[in-house]
Amino acid sequence: MPQSYQQIRPDLALQIRLVVTDVDGTMTTAEDSMSLAALEAVRRLEEQGVVVGLASGRALPRLESVAQRAGITGPIIAENGGVAKLTRDDQLADLGYSRQPAIRALEKLKGLFPKAIEETEDDKFRLVDIGIKSHGVETAELRSHLDDVELLDSGYMLHLLQKGVSKGLTLMRLLARIGDGSLSPEEVMVFGDSTTDMSLFQLFPHSVLIVNPRLPAKQRQAVLEVAEYISDLTFGDGFAQVVLHILDARKA
Ligand SMILES: [Mg+2]
Repeated sequence: MPQSYQQIRPDLALQIRLVVTDVDGTMTTAEDSMSLAALEAVRRLEEQGVVVGLASGRALPRLESVAQRAGITGPIIAENGGVAKLTRDDQLADLGYSRQPAIRALEKLKGLFPKAIEETEDDKFRLVDIGIKSHGVETAELRSHLDDVELLDSGYMLHLLQKGVSKGLTLMRLLARIGDGSLSPEEVMVFGDSTTDMSLFQLFPHSVLIVNPRLPAKQRQAVLEVAEYISDLTFGDGFAQVVLHILDARKA
Protein backbone atom coordinates (compact mmCIF):
# COMPACT_ATOMS: atom_id res chain seq x y z
CA MET A 1 0.00 0.00 0.00
CA PRO A 2 1.30 3.49 -0.78
CA GLN A 3 2.08 5.95 2.01
CA SER A 4 0.37 9.31 2.33
CA TYR A 5 1.98 12.05 0.20
CA GLN A 6 2.63 13.81 3.53
CA GLN A 7 5.46 11.31 4.05
CA ILE A 8 7.41 12.95 1.20
CA ARG A 9 10.27 14.49 3.23
CA PRO A 10 12.33 17.60 2.42
CA ASP A 11 15.40 15.57 1.37
CA LEU A 12 13.38 13.67 -1.23
CA ALA A 13 11.52 16.83 -2.32
CA LEU A 14 14.89 18.54 -2.92
CA GLN A 15 16.26 15.54 -4.80
CA ILE A 16 13.51 15.69 -7.47
CA ARG A 17 14.66 17.41 -10.70
CA LEU A 18 12.00 16.07 -13.07
CA VAL A 19 8.26 15.46 -12.56
CA VAL A 20 6.53 13.38 -15.24
CA THR A 21 2.76 13.21 -15.05
CA ASP A 22 -0.17 11.53 -16.71
CA VAL A 23 -2.95 13.92 -17.83
CA ASP A 24 -6.44 12.34 -17.86
CA GLY A 25 -7.61 11.48 -14.36
CA THR A 26 -4.42 13.00 -12.90
CA MET A 27 -4.48 16.66 -14.06
CA THR A 28 -8.16 16.82 -14.99
CA THR A 29 -11.35 17.50 -13.01
CA ALA A 30 -14.26 15.18 -12.26
CA GLU A 31 -15.89 16.80 -15.33
CA ASP A 32 -12.87 15.86 -17.52
CA SER A 33 -11.65 19.40 -18.20
CA MET A 34 -8.09 20.47 -17.34
CA SER A 35 -7.81 21.32 -13.62
CA LEU A 36 -6.73 24.93 -13.12
CA ALA A 37 -5.20 23.96 -9.78
CA ALA A 38 -3.09 21.28 -11.49
CA LEU A 39 -1.96 23.65 -14.27
CA GLU A 40 -0.97 26.24 -11.65
CA ALA A 41 0.93 23.59 -9.66
CA VAL A 42 2.90 22.67 -12.81
CA ARG A 43 3.74 26.32 -13.45
CA ARG A 44 5.06 26.63 -9.90
CA LEU A 45 7.24 23.52 -10.25
CA GLU A 46 8.80 24.94 -13.41
CA GLU A 47 9.33 28.31 -11.66
CA GLN A 48 11.16 26.52 -8.85
CA GLY A 49 13.48 24.81 -11.34
CA VAL A 50 11.78 21.41 -11.39
CA VAL A 51 11.30 20.38 -15.02
CA VAL A 52 7.86 18.93 -15.81
CA GLY A 53 7.03 16.41 -18.54
CA LEU A 54 3.85 14.62 -19.65
CA ALA A 55 3.20 10.90 -20.21
CA SER A 56 -0.26 10.19 -21.56
CA GLY A 57 -2.34 8.00 -23.82
CA ARG A 58 -3.39 11.11 -25.72
CA ALA A 59 -2.25 11.83 -29.26
CA LEU A 60 0.61 14.35 -29.41
CA PRO A 61 -1.32 17.46 -30.53
CA ARG A 62 -3.61 17.20 -27.48
CA LEU A 63 -0.56 17.10 -25.19
CA GLU A 64 1.34 19.91 -26.88
CA SER A 65 -1.57 22.23 -26.13
CA VAL A 66 -1.49 21.22 -22.44
CA ALA A 67 2.30 21.66 -22.37
CA GLN A 68 2.03 25.13 -23.81
CA ARG A 69 -0.76 26.15 -21.45
CA ALA A 70 1.16 24.97 -18.39
CA GLY A 71 4.59 26.22 -19.50
CA ILE A 72 6.02 22.69 -19.51
CA THR A 73 9.68 22.44 -20.64
CA GLY A 74 10.26 18.69 -20.22
CA PRO A 75 9.60 15.62 -22.36
CA ILE A 76 6.22 14.89 -23.89
CA ILE A 77 5.35 11.22 -24.12
CA ALA A 78 2.17 10.52 -26.10
CA GLU A 79 0.23 7.41 -27.13
CA ASN A 80 1.19 5.49 -23.95
CA GLY A 81 4.88 5.64 -24.80
CA GLY A 82 4.57 5.06 -28.54
CA VAL A 83 5.52 8.63 -29.48
CA ALA A 84 7.73 11.17 -27.69
CA LYS A 85 9.53 14.49 -27.92
CA LEU A 86 12.31 15.69 -25.61
CA THR A 87 10.70 19.14 -25.44
CA ARG A 88 7.59 20.58 -26.99
CA ASP A 89 9.55 22.39 -29.74
CA ASP A 90 11.73 19.40 -30.56
CA GLN A 91 11.34 16.85 -33.35
CA LEU A 92 9.80 13.45 -32.68
CA ALA A 93 12.28 11.16 -30.91
CA ASP A 94 13.20 8.09 -32.95
CA LEU A 95 11.87 5.24 -30.79
CA GLY A 96 11.52 2.71 -33.61
CA TYR A 97 7.96 1.68 -32.73
CA SER A 98 5.46 0.46 -35.31
CA ARG A 99 1.71 0.75 -35.66
CA GLN A 100 1.44 -2.54 -37.59
CA PRO A 101 0.72 -4.79 -34.55
CA ALA A 102 -2.09 -2.43 -33.43
CA ILE A 103 -3.55 -2.31 -36.95
CA ARG A 104 -3.53 -6.12 -37.19
CA ALA A 105 -5.16 -6.39 -33.75
CA LEU A 106 -7.84 -3.84 -34.67
CA GLU A 107 -8.70 -5.74 -37.84
CA LYS A 108 -8.95 -8.98 -35.89
CA LEU A 109 -11.23 -7.45 -33.22
CA LYS A 110 -13.43 -5.77 -35.84
CA GLY A 111 -13.78 -9.14 -37.59
CA LEU A 112 -14.75 -10.88 -34.36
CA PHE A 113 -16.96 -8.13 -32.89
CA PRO A 114 -18.07 -5.92 -35.79
CA LYS A 115 -20.76 -4.10 -33.79
CA ALA A 116 -18.79 -3.62 -30.58
CA ILE A 117 -15.53 -2.02 -31.73
CA GLU A 118 -15.50 1.71 -32.41
CA GLU A 119 -12.39 3.64 -33.42
CA THR A 120 -11.95 6.94 -31.61
CA GLU A 121 -12.01 10.34 -33.23
CA ASP A 122 -8.39 11.26 -32.57
CA ASP A 123 -7.02 8.07 -34.17
CA LYS A 124 -6.13 10.12 -37.23
CA PHE A 125 -3.55 11.94 -35.11
CA ARG A 126 -2.04 8.73 -33.74
CA LEU A 127 1.17 7.23 -35.12
CA VAL A 128 1.69 4.07 -33.02
CA ASP A 129 -1.26 3.43 -30.70
CA ILE A 130 -4.89 2.95 -31.76
CA GLY A 131 -7.63 4.18 -29.43
CA ILE A 132 -10.85 2.18 -29.44
CA LYS A 133 -14.10 1.92 -27.52
CA SER A 134 -15.83 -1.38 -26.89
CA HIS A 135 -19.61 -1.48 -26.66
CA GLY A 136 -20.76 -4.51 -24.71
CA VAL A 137 -17.64 -6.72 -24.93
CA GLU A 138 -15.46 -6.92 -21.81
CA THR A 139 -11.80 -5.93 -22.01
CA ALA A 140 -10.74 -9.36 -20.76
CA GLU A 141 -12.70 -11.02 -23.58
CA LEU A 142 -11.04 -8.77 -26.18
CA ARG A 143 -7.63 -9.45 -24.64
CA SER A 144 -8.14 -13.22 -24.85
CA HIS A 145 -8.13 -12.94 -28.66
CA LEU A 146 -4.88 -10.95 -28.83
CA ASP A 147 -1.35 -12.20 -28.31
CA ASP A 148 1.34 -9.94 -29.75
CA VAL A 149 -0.12 -6.58 -28.73
CA GLU A 150 -0.85 -4.57 -25.56
CA LEU A 151 -4.50 -3.81 -24.77
CA LEU A 152 -4.55 -1.01 -22.19
CA ASP A 153 -7.54 0.46 -20.38
CA SER A 154 -7.01 4.08 -19.33
CA GLY A 155 -10.53 4.37 -17.92
CA TYR A 156 -11.21 6.80 -20.79
CA MET A 157 -10.67 4.46 -23.75
CA LEU A 158 -8.91 1.24 -24.71
CA HIS A 159 -5.56 1.33 -26.48
CA LEU A 160 -3.98 -1.18 -28.85
CA LEU A 161 -0.23 -0.85 -28.86
CA GLN A 162 2.89 -2.72 -29.95
CA LYS A 163 3.88 -5.28 -27.30
CA GLY A 164 6.36 -3.99 -24.73
CA VAL A 165 5.77 -0.29 -25.42
CA SER A 166 4.96 1.66 -22.26
CA LYS A 167 5.14 5.13 -20.76
CA GLY A 168 7.73 3.97 -18.23
CA LEU A 169 10.06 2.34 -20.75
CA THR A 170 9.92 5.34 -23.09
CA LEU A 171 10.71 7.72 -20.22
CA MET A 172 13.63 5.50 -19.21
CA ARG A 173 14.93 5.49 -22.80
CA LEU A 174 14.70 9.31 -22.97
CA LEU A 175 16.30 9.99 -19.59
CA ALA A 176 19.91 10.19 -20.77
CA ARG A 177 18.85 12.67 -23.47
CA ILE A 178 17.03 15.11 -21.15
CA GLY A 179 18.86 18.31 -20.19
CA ASP A 180 22.57 17.65 -19.67
CA GLY A 181 21.96 13.89 -19.62
CA SER A 182 22.80 13.51 -15.94
CA LEU A 183 19.32 12.66 -14.61
CA SER A 184 18.99 9.42 -12.67
CA PRO A 185 15.68 7.59 -12.02
CA GLU A 186 15.98 8.59 -8.32
CA GLU A 187 15.68 12.26 -9.36
CA VAL A 188 12.37 11.69 -11.14
CA MET A 189 8.90 11.69 -9.58
CA VAL A 190 6.08 10.16 -11.63
CA PHE A 191 2.35 10.81 -11.21
CA GLY A 192 -0.62 8.80 -12.52
CA ASP A 193 -4.08 7.50 -11.71
CA SER A 194 -4.59 4.20 -13.52
CA THR A 195 -3.15 0.92 -14.81
CA THR A 196 -1.75 2.69 -17.88
CA ASP A 197 0.69 4.34 -15.43
CA MET A 198 1.89 1.04 -13.90
CA SER A 199 5.09 1.00 -15.97
CA LEU A 200 6.00 4.44 -14.58
CA PHE A 201 5.32 3.23 -11.03
CA GLN A 202 7.34 0.05 -11.59
CA LEU A 203 10.39 1.55 -13.30
CA PHE A 204 10.78 4.74 -11.23
CA PRO A 205 11.30 4.52 -7.46
CA HIS A 206 9.38 7.71 -6.60
CA SER A 207 5.76 7.54 -7.68
CA VAL A 208 2.50 9.17 -6.66
CA LEU A 209 -0.93 7.67 -7.24
CA ILE A 210 -3.63 10.30 -7.69
CA VAL A 211 -6.98 9.00 -6.49
CA ASN A 212 -9.46 8.47 -9.31
CA PRO A 213 -12.78 7.31 -7.79
CA ARG A 214 -13.92 6.04 -11.19
CA LEU A 215 -11.18 3.40 -11.36
CA PRO A 216 -12.68 -0.14 -11.25
CA ALA A 217 -11.83 -2.06 -8.03
CA LYS A 218 -9.53 -4.58 -9.71
CA GLN A 219 -7.47 -1.86 -11.39
CA ARG A 220 -7.34 0.14 -8.16
CA GLN A 221 -5.89 -2.90 -6.40
CA ALA A 222 -3.20 -3.24 -9.07
CA VAL A 223 -2.05 0.40 -8.87
CA LEU A 224 -2.15 0.42 -5.06
CA GLU A 225 0.36 -2.44 -5.11
CA VAL A 226 3.01 -0.50 -7.01
CA ALA A 227 2.70 3.22 -6.20
CA GLU A 228 4.90 4.65 -3.43
CA TYR A 229 2.74 7.62 -2.35
CA ILE A 230 -0.96 8.50 -2.66
CA SER A 231 -2.95 11.75 -2.66
CA ASP A 232 -5.94 12.43 -0.35
CA LEU A 233 -7.91 14.51 -2.82
CA THR A 234 -9.10 13.24 -6.19
CA PHE A 235 -8.15 14.09 -9.79
CA GLY A 236 -6.38 17.43 -10.44
CA ASP A 237 -7.03 18.61 -6.87
CA GLY A 238 -5.04 15.61 -5.64
CA PHE A 239 -2.21 16.40 -8.05
CA ALA A 240 -2.08 20.04 -6.91
CA GLN A 241 -2.18 18.97 -3.26
CA VAL A 242 0.86 16.70 -3.63
CA VAL A 243 2.85 19.18 -5.74
CA LEU A 244 2.21 22.02 -3.25
CA HIS A 245 3.37 19.73 -0.44
CA ILE A 246 6.60 19.00 -2.39
CA LEU A 247 7.18 22.72 -3.07
CA ASP A 248 6.67 23.52 0.63
CA ALA A 249 8.94 20.65 1.67
CA ARG A 250 11.71 22.03 -0.60
CA LYS A 251 11.62 25.27 1.40
CA ALA A 252 11.62 23.55 4.80
MG1 LIG B 1 -4.91 8.65 -16.46
